[in-house]
Amino acid sequence: MITRFAPSPTGPLHLGHAYSALLAYDMARAAGGTFLLRIEDIDSTRSRPEWEAQIYDDLAWLGITWDAPPMRQSDRLPAYRDALQTLWARGLLYPCTCTRRDITAAASAPQEGAEPVYGPDGLVYPGTCRPDTPPTAPFPEDVALRLNMGAALTSLASSGFSFHETGQDRDEDILFTAKELQTQIGDIVLSRRDFPGSYHLSVVLDDAAQGITHVIRGEDLFEATQIHVILQRLLGLPTPIYNHHHLIRDENGKRLAKRDDARAIAKYRAEGATREDIRRLVGL
Ligand code: GLU
Repeated sequence: MITRFAPSPTGPLHLGHAYSALLAYDMARAAGGTFLLRIEDIDSTRSRPEWEAQIYDDLAWLGITWDAPPMRQSDRLPAYRDALQTLWARGLLYPCTCTRRDITAAASAPQEGAEPVYGPDGLVYPGTCRPDTPPTAPFPEDVALRLNMGAALTSLASSGFSFHETGQDRDEDILFTAKELQTQIGDIVLSRRDFPGSYHLSVVLDDAAQGITHVIRGEDLFEATQIHVILQRLLGLPTPIYNHHHLIRDENGKRLAKRDDARAIAKYRAEGATREDIRRLVGL
């Protein structure tokens, strides 16, 4: 078993992160497996070295040790670019110049008939920039690239997909269809204009590169897992087992966010809490 914790260094780790990290860590240790760390720092405008340093410090304080040097996404650009070039050469990507506003306008245009559909990435892309035939130009730089979901599904020649979910007392295969992918997820962005990659592409390539067998993460990423399975199939990568855990919420039932400094692990530490206190607070 190889599990991982994959925080973004864009703010302090809070109780929700502690829960996720401890679950993944305990699971690996209980199985005599391996626990790895990955710093998801592709968002260069929000990632900060001081938050990264704080992550290492908080995890060490929690008693969490990792079994290899952390992987950092900012070191992985060549791998992301390779995968994008492969998908481009297979005619599965296309450049998109739409702004968010363009997409909202097109998705809610009266002639579309149906209500706009929201997927795990926001509004399902209405297809404005999607070409009728695969682009033949050389791999383009400095433009966003979308996955042509229809072409991707045709190339996979399968009408249904699945992954195995073990979170929240579940132990079942989650099934989804090609049709659902096209209507509810659609042509997602795989490469941003300012960065050769996206969360979905990076997470899939990195989990494979780190040999992750069990992905333990919050249930907010449950829906996005369908995207990850499709990318794994397209790129010939294994699909790990998934465990989507419940989110730690505040007393009003709202999920914790990075800005919930009140629940930052560092704050509890400063107030004299022990790591056992943190475990108790998150129900472990
Ligand atoms: N970096 C993501 C976060 O901090 C987690 C991604 C994942 O576990 O797949 O929310």
